[in-house]
Amino acid sequence: MFQTVLREGYQGIGSLAIGLLARLHIVYVSRKTVRKSVTRWIPRTLRRDRLTEERVKTILLDCDGTLWPDEGPGIFMRDINKLELNRNLFIKLTEGYQSIILVTNQSYFARRNNLKYKELTSFFKFYRKVAQELRVDAVLVCLHHPLADNLTLKRECVYRKPHSGLISLANRITKLNLAESALVGDRISDIYAGNLFGIKNCIAVYNEDFFDCNTEMKKLRIQEPLVFSLLQFPVKA
Ligand SMILES: [Zn+2]
Repeated sequence: MFQTVLREGYQGIGSLAIGLLARLHIVYVSRKTVRKSVTRWIPRTLRRDRLTEERVKTILLDCDGTLWPDEGPGIFMRDINKLELNRNLFIKLTEGYQSIILVTNQSYFARRNNLKYKELTSFFKFYRKVAQELRVDAVLVCLHHPLADNLTLKRECVYRKPHSGLISLANRITKLNLAESALVGDRISDIYAGNLFGIKNCIAVYNEDFFDCNTEMKKLRIQEPLVFSLLQFPVKA
């Protein structure tokens, strides 16, 4: 009986925590980026560095299927050292950009009613390690899903690609120079989200499921052709 109360109590706290985390959509932000964002709030006349308002040449990268093979949700439960990171692609693509931001949909928690503490900590550890290893400026994640089993995460979220909320959030963190920024993904939903926000320079990593019309894409009824170029996977250095 006591154990049940304990477990259900944790479930309540766990649901609350994941709900709040999901609404934040931010998993990691580098110190450099935080410093820059804070500086933006200081009146321009008081700033030593007046260039901080400049728009930044940013590259936005999807994770599953782009930076590593798409093995379904819950990739973060695996050992990062055993992960097949597509470093060559990463190095080749990010060269010349001032800011690197990862934007990803992650539906693992949405599929689960029972949250385990270990899963939550693995989630943070995994993305933090990836961010530090690849030296990215921020990791933005949407944990929501319109058909989620977990009711805390069940919603039609504007941050979930193909919607452009995550890119809009990236723009708030580091002001994007739209003309010179780029987005890389392996699905039509990535490219659509990029185009929707005004990023014309979208690159699709080859994926045979690219045109797989999931339920969200069917709703969107694409009318205009998408602007993107195709990249063969895996990329050789
Ligand atoms: Zn969301």
